[in-house]
Formats: sequence, C-alpha cells, structure tokens
Amino acid sequence: MRKLVISVMSVFAILVLASCQPEQEQAQSEDVQEPRTVVDLILSNGKIITVDEAFTIADTVVVNNGLIVEVGDASIIEKYQASTQVDLQGKTLMPGFVDSHTHIRGEPLRFIQLNKVESISEMQRLVRIKADVLGPGEWITGYGWSEDNLAEGRKPTRQDLDAAAPNNPITFTRAGGHSAVVNTLALQLADITDATPDPEGGVIERDEDGVATGVIRERHNIVGQLVPESTYEELFASLEINLNNLLTLGITSITDASKTPEDYTMWEELYAKPGAMLPRSKLQFQWDDPEAIAEIKARVGDGNDYLKIGPIKIFADGGFTGPAAFTKEPYVDQGDYRGYLNMPEEELVALINEVHDAGWQMGIHAIGDAAIELVVDTLADTLTRNPREDHRTYLNHFSMRPSDATMDKMAEHNILITQQPNFTYTLEGRYAANLDGWRLEHNNPIRSPMDHGVFVAISSDILPIGPLVGIYAAVTRKGMSGRVFAAEEAITIEEAVKGYTINSAYINFDENIKGSLEPGKLADMIVLSADILTADAESIMDIEIEQTYIGGALVYEAP
Ligand SMILES: [Zn+2]
Repeated sequence: MRKLVISVMSVFAILVLASCQPEQEQAQSEDVQEPRTVVDLILSNGKIITVDEAFTIADTVVVNNGLIVEVGDASIIEKYQASTQVDLQGKTLMPGFVDSHTHIRGEPLRFIQLNKVESISEMQRLVRIKADVLGPGEWITGYGWSEDNLAEGRKPTRQDLDAAAPNNPITFTRAGGHSAVVNTLALQLADITDATPDPEGGVIERDEDGVATGVIRERHNIVGQLVPESTYEELFASLEINLNNLLTLGITSITDASKTPEDYTMWEELYAKPGAMLPRSKLQFQWDDPEAIAEIKARVGDGNDYLKIGPIKIFADGGFTGPAAFTKEPYVDQGDYRGYLNMPEEELVALINEVHDAGWQMGIHAIGDAAIELVVDTLADTLTRNPREDHRTYLNHFSMRPSDATMDKMAEHNILITQQPNFTYTLEGRYAANLDGWRLEHNNPIRSPMDHGVFVAISSDILPIGPLVGIYAAVTRKGMSGRVFAAEEAITIEEAVKGYTINSAYINFDENIKGSLEPGKLADMIVLSADILTADAESIMDIEIEQTYIGGALVYEAP
C-alpha cells in the first residue's frame, strides 16, 4: 500500500506555490477557505465498514490522539491537514476484531505448539528437535493436537512419542484441553501402569489387551503436575510474542479467560514495557482469591484502555474434546454417559449467587445442554432474588442448543452469549463422535438464540484463534469436511462481523469506546486484502489482514 506522508515541508511548498498565484485569486481563496484542523492520520479512498448503528460504509476516517475524529465521504479530507495520509486504494477497512473469549499465556521453552500439526510424523519431527535443544531427561510439553487433523486419522500413542524421544518425558495436551497423550517415561514417572485404576472423573485409555495407550482423559494433570515450573522470564518473553501475534490476525482487543492475581502481575509488567506492541486486554479472573481480584480492579481504574479487569469466569461443565460436556441425553455409543458438572450442583448454584452478590459480571462456561439449562435457571433465580440493571452476565460457548424455554428465559433476564462458531468447523469430528441427530445438527447455534431475542457476541477461544475462521463457520455452518450443520442456524456476514466487533465490545461494557469506527472511539482498525462483505463465503478464510492499527498507530503490516 502506498503511503502519502505530507510533511510540514510539503505543506510549506504548497503554500509557496499558492503565493505564486495572481494576487486577486489568492485573496478570493483566502476568503472561502477555513483553516484546516491538524490531525495525526487520515485513511481515505477505502471501503470503510464503520459497524455503526446503520452499518454505514464510508470512504475516509480521520484520527487524532488515538481517537477517531470523523468518518465520512472523501470530501471531509478538505477540513484536515494530517501528518500521515494513507490512500487505501479501494481496500476494505473495518474495526479491529474484539475477541471476547481467548486463552493467551506465556509458554515455557519446553513447550511445542501443536495446533497446526497435520501428522504424527510431523509431531515426531518437532519432538526430536525439542529433545535435541533441551537434552535428555527434560520434560517436553505441547498443546493443540487433534486426531481430526492428523493424516494418520488416529490419536497419537505413547509408542509414537517414545520413537521420537525415549529419554524425555512428554505430555501433549489435545486441542480443547480435556485430554493428553503422554509417553512411556512420563507414565513411569507418574507411577501409572496398565493395572492402575482410572482416576476419579478421568480415564486412562487402554487398548483391547488392557495396555495403556498413553492417552489420559480429563485427569491428565496426574502427569502434567510433574512438569517443573518454568521461569518467569521465559513465560514473560513468550507471552509478549503470543499477544503480539494476535495483531497479525486483526485482533485488537481480547477478553482472556481464567486468570489469577499472579498472572495479572506479569501482564501488568508486560503492558508497562516501553515499545511492546500488544492488543488491548481484559482479564477474566477465576474466583480463587476474591479479595486480591477486587484489589486489582480498584487499582486498575478506568484510565487505562490497554489492560483491564473483566468478568469472573465460572466453569459449569467440560467440553466435547474430553468429552465432559454435561448433556440432557446420553452421548452416542457411550452407555448412559452424559458428561458431568465441573462441581456438585449445589456448589455451582452457591458460587453463581456469591459472585453475583459481590457485584461482579460473570462469564460462565456452559457447553452441554443440561449445563446451559441449569446455569440459566440458576441465573434467572439469582437475578430475580437480587436484580441488577445491566449486569451483562453471559454464557460462554453455548455449544448445544437448549430448549426454546431456556432461550426465552435468557432473553427475559438479559443473559448474553459469547459463542465460538469456529468450533463447528474444528470440532466437527468431536461432535459427530458424541452427538447425533438434531442436537448434532444444531451445534453452536447462533440464529436460534438471536431469534429468541438473545444477544450474541462471537469469539475464538483457541480452536483456532482467528476471527476469519469463526466468521466463515458462522455464515456457512460448515465443518472441516465441508459438511453443513443445520443451515438454518447460519447468520449473515454482516451479523458475524458485528458479533466479532461491536457485540463483543458490548458484552465487555466497551461499546462506547470500541467495536465500531465512530467519532470519539479508539482508532483500532484493520485493513483487509478483500471486501469481506461481498466476498464469496468460501473465500472468507483466505482474506489476509494487511494492516492493524491500535489507537491510530500501525502495529502490524503484512510482509
Ligand atoms: Zn475457553
């Protein structure tokens, strides 16, 4: 993209040229021309998706001091003199994505990111490299594999990992976090043999001969807890890289889940680091230490638009990668197994009441239909007993479609949703393995809650982080195989764009400062390689983020 930088010198040159005009003409033009307002940045000649109330498309946006000054047609340029002027050359510019549910953290040196791994042999190659770097005896950890993405079409086994690094204990958590595959050395260190009974709430998978395969479900922490702590410095360095990477995806704001006061210390230090290029973050805390969280919230205040405290995170159930989502009907081919609540029902009800009464907004993880209905019933009772205007408590995930009565109740009590349509795409195999019929078809519903008057925002979680995958799946309802799930649950591209911008800002109480390009709002914007509104749905995931601006500063530009 060509950037026109109009320097003070060139403005001077224009003035000199103007002074060469005949005197009379110059006098006239001085009469009619108002003095131009000096601003930092003008982007013009674009297709600007403002995401304002009327979903206006504009040509030009004017930015000063990190905020949007004016959005309009090309003629508004005349009123301003900018130190930087960008010709968008017809490209699409829109608000940066506001991702209302993510899991970003610093990773240790021993960690391998597995979410793009497409075969077990590729996994083995990465393990060999890591084992060489770390040396024998050192733990190797990883996250993000999925048998649905592996060319071999099966889960990795401990023997697969042994073949790559027999002298390093290895634990690789599956995408979604509900199971892990570990190697033989890791099993030995955890004292797990073929005869070890399943831990409570978990499964040690075994083959037909009763031999442990290396996969442990739900209680894989019996191995994970043996991994030594990482240093603060390595986690800090990695957190900065991982947060910075979000800018390449067009994400300018996140709400990050399950944080502790100790995590906050690291984030605060990172956000104070001069020159760090990071998205704006809201941290969603676990309720482990209510006093410490309240102290942080009081200290953070309202002055900082980069790092704030969001709602409290509560887990009602598990997910479908385990699987442990709490469902009304049994899973497919698993006896009467229906998943389970993350804690006894009375405890969950008491927790929701306690956090609400303490004045907090909540983001409640609920995936199975039974978990969703229990949480909604509980919230309805809580909000009736102790009403609060504008509480904006929301359900996170909402992966199974609950009853119509539940959705009506959500609308009545203003219980919101942040939904991950990208799950329809990436978790297709998990849903098909555990659900069937209507409940499989209607996974991750968006149209039906909207039709019931429920407010829906959209977010990525970690499957994968990337708004364009979510928008693609929300409008096509397609899984990775191309299979379409309940096309009637599809939403329009415009609705999906709102879900990932203004609606996600709204569920964070940020709709007055972000989520759309309007005067007075933060100048968080992205330039796309194609027009997402008119793009063929099949090409949405191919759109590239060409530029990302935060507060009017260019923080990412595609190579
Ligand atoms: Zn999550």
